[in-house]
Amino acid sequence: MKKIVFTIFAFISFSFIANAQAKYKNFQDSIAAEAAKLEVWTTVPEVTAGRYINEAPSDAIILYNGKDFSSFHGRNGKKIGWTIDPDGALTDVKGAGDLITNESFGDCQLHVEFRTPAIVKGSGQSRGNSGIYLMGLYEIQVLDSYKNPTYSNGQAAAVYKQHIPLVNASRQPGMWQAYDIIFKAPVFKTNGELDKPATVTVLHNGVLVQNNVSILGPTDWVTKPVYKKHDAKLPMFFQDHGDDGNPISYQNIWIRPL
Ligand code: MG
Repeated sequence: MKKIVFTIFAFISFSFIANAQAKYKNFQDSIAAEAAKLEVWTTVPEVTAGRYINEAPSDAIILYNGKDFSSFHGRNGKKIGWTIDPDGALTDVKGAGDLITNESFGDCQLHVEFRTPAIVKGSGQSRGNSGIYLMGLYEIQVLDSYKNPTYSNGQAAAVYKQHIPLVNASRQPGMWQAYDIIFKAPVFKTNGELDKPATVTVLHNGVLVQNNVSILGPTDWVTKPVYKKHDAKLPMFFQDHGDDGNPISYQNIWIRPL
C-alpha cells in the first residue's frame, strides 16, 4: 500500500515539475514564479520614527553586547563568518552563514538593533536583507525598506509573506534601527495538532507595526505556511541572506524569556 501511495505521490510531483518546466525557461524561474504568487503589493504609509535607544533591563539575557558572539554558533558546525567591527557592530559578510543562538527560546520579549548598509546596492529583496527567525521558523523580515519598493508582505517588519506591517517606520540606510518583539510560541496538542498559533507584536523604531498578529505557520519564500508540531523552545537565528546588497549589521541584542 505504502509503495502505491509513494508511486502516486512521485508521479504527481514529477508531473508538477515537468509542467512547471514546460512553462518556464528553467527550474529556478518556475520556483520564482510560484514564490511570486504569495507576494502582496500595496502601499504601506510611511512614518518618521523618533529617536529610540533601548538599554537592556537587569533581567535580560544579553545575546550580543558588541564584544563577542559567544551566544551563537554557525549551522552544521560551520565557523561563524560574521565580523565584529571597531564600533562593535556585528556584521554579516556574504556567505557568512546564519547566526544561531546556543540557547533555545519560546515566549519572549526580544530587542534587536540593526543597520542596513549606507552604500545602497541592489533593490527590492536584495537590499540589506536579513531576518530574525523566531524559533528558527518564524521570520520577522529585516530589510532596507527606505524608499525601496518590494512586495509589502516581504518588506521590513513584515511577518514574512503573512502580515504586512501597519506602517513603514524604516530609517535611512546606514542608520541604526530597532525592533522590539513580543512573541508567544505556538502550542500543540499531544497528538500533534495545533492548539494555539504563535502570535507576535512588533515595534519598529518604537512604532507599532504588528499588533498581536497570529502567525499562520513557518514562514517561507515559496511554500504556504503549515504548522508542524515542534518543541516549546527552539534556537532563533539571524539570517545571512547571502547576496551583494549586504552587509547588514546588528548590535545590542537582548532577550527576556516570558
Ligand atoms: Mg529575510
